[in-house]
Amino acid sequence: MVKAIVGANWGDEGKGKITDTLAKESDIIVRFQGGANAGHTIVNDYGKFALHTLPSGVFYNHTTSIIGNGVALDIPKLVGEINEIVSRGVPKPKILVSNRAQIVMPYHILFDTYEEARLAGKSFGSTKSGIAPFYSDKYAKIGFQVSELFDEEALKEKIERVLVQKNVLLEHLYHQPLLKAEEVFATLMEYKEMIEPYVCDTSAYLYQAIQDGKNILLEGQLGSLKDPDHGIYPMVTSSSTLAGYGAIGAGIPPYEIKKVITVCKAYSSAVGAGAFVSEIFGDEADELRRRGGDGGEYGATTGRPRRMGWFDCVASKYGCRIQGTTDVAFTVLDVLGYLDEIPVCTGYEIDGKVTTDFPTTTLLEKAKPVLEVLPGWKTDIRGIKKFEDLPENCRKYIEFVEEHIGFPITMISNGPGREDIIYR
Ligand code: GDP
Repeated sequence: MVKAIVGANWGDEGKGKITDTLAKESDIIVRFQGGANAGHTIVNDYGKFALHTLPSGVFYNHTTSIIGNGVALDIPKLVGEINEIVSRGVPKPKILVSNRAQIVMPYHILFDTYEEARLAGKSFGSTKSGIAPFYSDKYAKIGFQVSELFDEEALKEKIERVLVQKNVLLEHLYHQPLLKAEEVFATLMEYKEMIEPYVCDTSAYLYQAIQDGKNILLEGQLGSLKDPDHGIYPMVTSSSTLAGYGAIGAGIPPYEIKKVITVCKAYSSAVGAGAFVSEIFGDEADELRRRGGDGGEYGATTGRPRRMGWFDCVASKYGCRIQGTTDVAFTVLDVLGYLDEIPVCTGYEIDGKVTTDFPTTTLLEKAKPVLEVLPGWKTDIRGIKKFEDLPENCRKYIEFVEEHIGFPITMISNGPGREDIIYR
């Protein structure tokens, strides 16, 4: 059976932890989109890890990890991450990389950096991992597939052709040093050495695995609101964050995805620019940020402090709907145990009218949160294993959220570890 694990909001919902937990019963974990720009934080017996490129299943011996064709493949980062986990005592994971995955080129990272500098105050808050230039090139059909590394003559010719265009921009738009074809070729030959042991036709592999009845997890990055079509465009990422894209980015039939587990955090956080209706500021935000996640709400990739807010039912209802949610995993609930009262955003007021439907970006900029305040439970809920054993106000909080988003919360995460999970 194929399941997808995706985010309902702006990312950082705790997908890594849920994937790591569910990986126990899985044979294969697939990354199907995104690149090294976001990260998952995972806490397990080996320690605490921030993964950017590797799927969250790499810590189990029995799983195969796949980098699907939809991923922006940063070869030095991937190989670096493999080496890092192995050096920290994790058994060498079984990893397969799609021969159709495209390569993040060294110049993608440069262009990302130059463009952010050029936009200065009006930037999108890119992590400068080359993701936007990478996907632009992919769709402009001047990207490089892994398979192309293995035809050196054709590769040389294509590099020459692509660099003509790149060098015009470097010279006239960014006023930066030009790229040399021989150097780019030499780098790609190094990449080839690094990646060759992992490359295969992953879509054929997955097809067979489905026939054999294997359990497969598709692991998404970021969340619904960062999707280029359905999110808060243009403050979005460059590849689809939706479960539906899992079929494309992994190369499997869409009807094989039987479960869509959408991860929702018990409060909100966001990174980068863009409207964030339930955002809070000052001491209130600082305290939640400090107590949030596992060791504070700071970017797994960048270390940037995240923007904080109360749970947003409007954004989450939409985020779950657009994913095609079958199950909601409600995470980081333990963190709210310090609050006497917990505000929840249940509606948006736009031009004097209250709505519970998530609007397009232009209207979103005008939205003001409608808040309802629920009583807190003022205890530490970590270690609780059964829903019935949660404090009454905590159960009421979960039920309130469930009713407002309209999708069933079947998993509750009450701590960062693998075992901190309540099934309902
Ligand atoms: P992802 O990209 O969606 O995987 O999100 P992050 O990497 O930002 O994970 C969120 C953070 O919360 C990480 O530091 C996790 O270890 C932590 N975390 C996940 N679930 C829980 C939970 O239920 N309780 C607590 N306290 N921390 C959690």
